[in-house]
Amino acid sequence: MSDEFTLYCAICGAPLMEDESTPDVPSWFKHATLLSEAPDQPKAICESDATAGYGPILSLTSTEDLIVANSTHPYGRLLRVFYLASHKSCCSIVKRNLAKHGPCNGLLRSPGQIWTMRHIWQCLTHRFEATIEDGQSDGGPIYRLLAPHNYYMPRFTEMKWEFDIPFVDADPLDIPDLNVAVFRHLEPLLPKESASHVPPIEVENLQIHLQGLPMEIFDHILSFVCPLTEASLQCNRVLPPSFWRTRLFTGQLIPFLWDLDIFAIEENQSAMANPSEPPISEMEQGRDWDWELLVRQLAQPNAFGDDQPLSDVPPGLKNRRRIWELIDEMYLGDVQATTPNVWGHSPRQIPVPLPD
Ligand SMILES: [Zn+2]
Repeated sequence: MSDEFTLYCAICGAPLMEDESTPDVPSWFKHATLLSEAPDQPKAICESDATAGYGPILSLTSTEDLIVANSTHPYGRLLRVFYLASHKSCCSIVKRNLAKHGPCNGLLRSPGQIWTMRHIWQCLTHRFEATIEDGQSDGGPIYRLLAPHNYYMPRFTEMKWEFDIPFVDADPLDIPDLNVAVFRHLEPLLPKESASHVPPIEVENLQIHLQGLPMEIFDHILSFVCPLTEASLQCNRVLPPSFWRTRLFTGQLIPFLWDLDIFAIEENQSAMANPSEPPISEMEQGRDWDWELLVRQLAQPNAFGDDQPLSDVPPGLKNRRRIWELIDEMYLGDVQATTPNVWGHSPRQIPVPLPD
């Protein structure tokens, strides 16, 4: 249980809490990373380890100093630093996500695109200012920043954390049985002639044309497939199973699955529940199993939803997918205050920062 003083992670919207407060608190809620501007390096962002405490008060790991996060109030600046608090796990996921972003040949995918920790800082401080403008602070700390889609979490009342929110409290990094849970869904690859949805002759012609392309052009075309997004569940079989398999294990196709391990499958093969699991030797060959279908299922926006084939994956993976999407969708100026002020006037719109 929590109280009205719960502090929430600026990345994922789940609590930062000490695990002594209740036996139900997951241990990853306790470990924080405090973001701040480097005092002597323009545009650099510092990441300081800290331990969650009571509400917005956290303890810096390096010095054991107590600080007040998410506050521009003078008492929050005892160390002359403005900190924004996130889970350490979420900050780790941010870095993995940012490594996949960045301009393509110098071009942005969209206005406000972010690809550095500095941009994350700009986005979060803009949200902080918008939250103040939304009337959610009387001069003290901001306990929970405004965020699009309410962090893909159900609405809950006030600032009180409720533990019945499905999978949001599951550790997004340390996911037990991750490999087994994913590869349980690998299905045998049907013979070519049974793939009636795409006439084999068309596929073969396209494959011939692709094979005739210069390698650099072929690689350029493949770069549009990685990561796989907004994909149909209908397999076209243009690319061989080895393409899907290799790039799944390297994290290129499904970037939030960076820790799949074929050797872990071998070690845990006896624990697999499905008797139709592929023998490890056949999985390693990468020819007889439907890697394309598995990747397409994993790439669905609602891949782990209740009515989806992969709905039985561990809750930690569902939470990781949620956090990854939150980071994917961040952009500069992505929230504005909407609550009228005490005089009934529309709130001031916070200027959208330009990327540093
Ligand atoms: Zn978090």
